[in-house]
Amino acid sequence: MTSTHTDLPVAQFLGGDWVDSATTMPVHNPATGAQIATVADGDEATAIAALDAAAAAQADWAGTDPRHRSDILLRAFGLLHAETDRIARTITLEMGKPLAEARGEVGYGAEFLRWFAEEATRGSGAYFRAPSGGGRIAVRKQPVGPVFAITPWNFPLAMVTRKVAPALAAGCTVVLKPAPQTPLTALEFMRILVEAGVPPGVVNCVTTSRAPLVSAPIIADRRLRKLTFTGSTAVGRTLLTQAAQGVLRVSMELGGNAPFVVLESADLDKAVGGAVLAKLRNAGQACVAADRFLVHEALAAEFTERFLAAVSALPLGDGLDRSTRLGPVIDGAAVRRITALIDEAVDGGAHLHTVGPDIDRPGHFVRPAVLTDVDTRSRLWSSEVFGPVAAIRTFTDPAQALHLANDTDAGLAGYVFGENLGDTLEFAENLRTGMVGVNTGVISDPAAPFGGMKSSGLGREGGSTGLAEYQEMQYLAIAR
Ligand code: NAP
Repeated sequence: MTSTHTDLPVAQFLGGDWVDSATTMPVHNPATGAQIATVADGDEATAIAALDAAAAAQADWAGTDPRHRSDILLRAFGLLHAETDRIARTITLEMGKPLAEARGEVGYGAEFLRWFAEEATRGSGAYFRAPSGGGRIAVRKQPVGPVFAITPWNFPLAMVTRKVAPALAAGCTVVLKPAPQTPLTALEFMRILVEAGVPPGVVNCVTTSRAPLVSAPIIADRRLRKLTFTGSTAVGRTLLTQAAQGVLRVSMELGGNAPFVVLESADLDKAVGGAVLAKLRNAGQACVAADRFLVHEALAAEFTERFLAAVSALPLGDGLDRSTRLGPVIDGAAVRRITALIDEAVDGGAHLHTVGPDIDRPGHFVRPAVLTDVDTRSRLWSSEVFGPVAAIRTFTDPAQALHLANDTDAGLAGYVFGENLGDTLEFAENLRTGMVGVNTGVISDPAAPFGGMKSSGLGREGGSTGLAEYQEMQYLAIAR
């Protein structure tokens, strides 16, 4: 197995060893289409070997002191920071986001290690006299057991640390299956965990282009106790069905379709700045990306004009080029899917404003687009866009905007902009989304509970509840 860029690890990481595989898969740079590495393509046997290692390491790891686990996570936090340039470059190479954003992801991803290093040492439980007077009640937390973590490509590091850090902090061992588009960052992170002192078998990484082949036997194995998944709602549903057989604990971070609401009292500088961040970070490929813009009629023309001007100022290109602010989308299928959404919306009567000239270069690029008068029945409005395309509608009555904002099965993130504090907060509180940005386009924070309502998921990652997702509660009834 090889990498044409640097000395990146390209083998599987199983039981503390780097294991080559006879079958391999290519990794491409979406900005050029060029192959940048060949990595192991894991199969059923690799999957079971990874779970064997995780199951064998579980008892010893659960028996370590929380302070010990905390110290290891803090070392990994320091190592990630020390290697920011290298990891950021790897993220950009395999995923395409601009280097500045990739550096931001390293900082954000590392923060989960620090946050859960701190949470690991906060003992929690209860001891009290039974109200009936019949005895005493003690409640303790223990690790749930081996965890299977499946992650997407859009944040190749942060989606991994958001799961692995709390699992390790709680005393769980892990089998990780990163997305096939972005295995290199995950393998780099394995190397860092080893350097930080994570013992063999505690974390294992199976890279594969055959996700169902690898995941089905792991999920069906009675030794597995928890499945944590970030990805599309469709795949989440399939995995939930599989997890039901073993009655596994599950965390599901699924797709969104975020409303972005500009109330009449909004400050347009803040709203436009927030819209650029919420829509175009990661070229729109974020689960919390703003999709459906609802702008008060009185501000709509100026908002659209200023938003278009701000988007036009973002240089599009290869993320490795330091002047780039907007990178490619992940692959050719994404280009075709996004283009079809735009075409269908235009056929349905939407007005298209594209930004910038046609793109005449290799790689998977989509010109940013803003569409106004978008029909609510169009797929552009009703499904997750996952690209640099904004759909705008106007409203006059905030109640109508709230109805439209909530009229979706998704419920991950929402945004509301307004200077009238009471009205704006009331609007935010009535959004049926797990997270709301109020006068801000950036909501992700390792200290906050990240997750969705409705079909956007189950459970929360980060915050003080993030650790509990990897813990089992045991109650001891103590006789008088
Ligand atoms: P995806 O197609 O659902 O894939 C996510 C992961 O699941 C990949 O590793 C994928 O591997 C794997 N997978 C697919 N089918 C599987 C199966 N049958 N069994 C086991 N694993 C399977 O999603 P994506 O396109 O990579 O990511 C974009 C989606 O993720 C969007 O919907 C986005 O909103 C969501 N997301 C949500 C959050 C959140 O926190 N809520 C965060 C980031 C992204 P293969 O590619 O090999 O199939």
